[in-house]
Amino acid sequence: MKALIAALRSLQDVDKQKIEAEKERRSITERVEQLAGMLTELERDLSEKHEKLKEAERWYKERERELKEDNEKIKRAQGRLSNISKAKEYAAVQREIEILRRGNAQKEEEILKLLAVMDEFKVAVEEEEAKLKAMREDVSAERAATTERVAELDKRLNEFGKNRAKYEGDVPRATLQRYTRIQKAWQGLAVVPVNEKGSCGGCHRQIPAQLYNTLLRRDTLESCPYCNRFLYVDVEESQDAAEG
Ligand SMILES: [Zn+2]
Repeated sequence: MKALIAALRSLQDVDKQKIEAEKERRSITERVEQLAGMLTELERDLSEKHEKLKEAERWYKERERELKEDNEKIKRAQGRLSNISKAKEYAAVQREIEILRRGNAQKEEEILKLLAVMDEFKVAVEEEEAKLKAMREDVSAERAATTERVAELDKRLNEFGKNRAKYEGDVPRATLQRYTRIQKAWQGLAVVPVNEKGSCGGCHRQIPAQLYNTLLRRDTLESCPYCNRFLYVDVEESQDAAEG
């Protein structure tokens, strides 16, 4: 029975390491995926900003073209003025020129305002681009490190699998099934020590004194009446503790 408990404990050690390795693998993989997701979002955001900037540039070019056209109109109207002799007609063309000039002054003001906003926006976009570049490098480094670590973990998991098979051979089928069931139910420990005060190392409840005495004899496989975990009394350990 001592050998069976030892085999179950070895099995549990392997499983514990296996669970840890799987947890780490999951966590680092999720992290790198999360970072990649953030990066995609930022890239989308930035490309939207670029699109806005392009739109503003189109608007700016359009206004500038209008401005040029109106200036041409003013020039042509001014040319016409020299050929007009009638005062009424002259005044009408002059009014037309005045309206165009006022319109142009307003357009110029709008263009200047837009240019100022565009300049600010361009600076902000450039800053974001620099940040994004740094982040891309970080994510790529993180991804490389994760890939390397995952390969290591996979190698270890494969070894755990082999070790587990080795220990499984020392445990009767029914016991192994029970072990697996308990381990799944508690998501971890299925074989726990009982301390000197007689409390279960899994659920920490006090086990009956009679069971404790049975465990001390170490000739049967016993379980906690409360949490069902396999129990053992670590005689060497408690002696060490007493001596230390
Ligand atoms: Zn228990």
